[in-house]
Amino acid sequence: MEKSINSRFYFDYNATSPLAKKVQDFLHDGDFLFGNPASLHLTGKNSKKFITETRNSLFKIFNLSADEFELYFHSGATEGINNYFKGNALKYFSQKKSISFFFSSVDHQAIINLEEDLKLLGHNVFYFEINSDGEFDKNLLLKNILDEEKKNKNVFLNYTVINNESGVVWPLDFISEIKTKTSTIVHVDAVQLVGKIENWDKLNPLVDAYTFSGHKFGSLKGVGFSFIKKMSPYKALITGGNQQFGLRSGTENALGIYSIKLALEEIIENFNASELKSAKEFIEVEILNFLKEKANIVAYNSSFRNLNTIFLIIKNSKAELVSMKFDMNQIDISTGSACSSGIIKENRVLLSMGYTKEESKSAVRFSFSPFMTLKDAQNYSKKIIDVLAKLP
Ligand code: PLP
Repeated sequence: MEKSINSRFYFDYNATSPLAKKVQDFLHDGDFLFGNPASLHLTGKNSKKFITETRNSLFKIFNLSADEFELYFHSGATEGINNYFKGNALKYFSQKKSISFFFSSVDHQAIINLEEDLKLLGHNVFYFEINSDGEFDKNLLLKNILDEEKKNKNVFLNYTVINNESGVVWPLDFISEIKTKTSTIVHVDAVQLVGKIENWDKLNPLVDAYTFSGHKFGSLKGVGFSFIKKMSPYKALITGGNQQFGLRSGTENALGIYSIKLALEEIIENFNASELKSAKEFIEVEILNFLKEKANIVAYNSSFRNLNTIFLIIKNSKAELVSMKFDMNQIDISTGSACSSGIIKENRVLLSMGYTKEESKSAVRFSFSPFMTLKDAQNYSKKIIDVLAKLP
């Protein structure tokens, strides 16, 4: 059976992923790209060359035009999201204009926790509701946006294309409708996109900004990137030496940036969506057959779920105990519920989807490698059922 690093089974790819083999090999070769890419000597130019290569390949992979989009690197999606939303909030504030932000109640905390600062700058934040299948009422969202526009508000929408907890996918096609019917500026949180649905590289060019984190798909930690429409620059939060067109000053992390290119190449070469789909479905069926009415897979009936995530509610269980049991059996999974000072709290995402408090304390998440095969899945499901059988 294929074991993950450190002799453990690692099923927490939505939290972070192990380093891609290509990145490990590059590190073994020992060219750490230490030169400052802004320096004019050969060592600096070498770092710059690797960054340029990565930029070119990102435009190519995601089929976006460098005439239309700016691409810049940052420390990861939390920073990219803060730069984009707070940077726009500042820009509009300085122009004495007000923004109505539309976020969903199941967005990542990197989005949700912007609220206080956005409001400090005089803007409004609205949350659209999500049902138990992880979906929202499109017509209601459009209507609410149009109502704000009638009040002369500028509307910004965050659209999380794949939810990190439930794995529910919101197709990017809907953005085309939003863009034709309204003047909304749309940011897509694309952190969970790579290697998790079939056409993960097919972006919608009508979107105004996309943000990614490299470590979710095998790059080094602490590096991510955003595509931003050239027409709509924000007011930079991180100012300094004007690197990266002033969008994010500071010396670029050439090694981290290049690791993004390598990790993506590895996904492109090895990703097999139909294999992953059958693998995940195999595990799901095994779990459901074993737990029967005790199990509830979140958003099981959603029209579009990703290929690597099983968010499982085990009725009348305590998520922290379940995940501890897995931990003791060398399997890393995620507790769906936040834990602070040893006290398990309800899962915010599940509560917003209409699940009960009890259910929201009983959820654990399995998120698998993009390269999982059916054969892996047959082995993994045995391991998983072994642990489930030990639960009280
Ligand atoms: N958005 C989503 C959907 C995420 O899953 C995450 C991380 O889990 C983030 C944003 C924040 O990414 P990072 O922690 O890499 O900054």
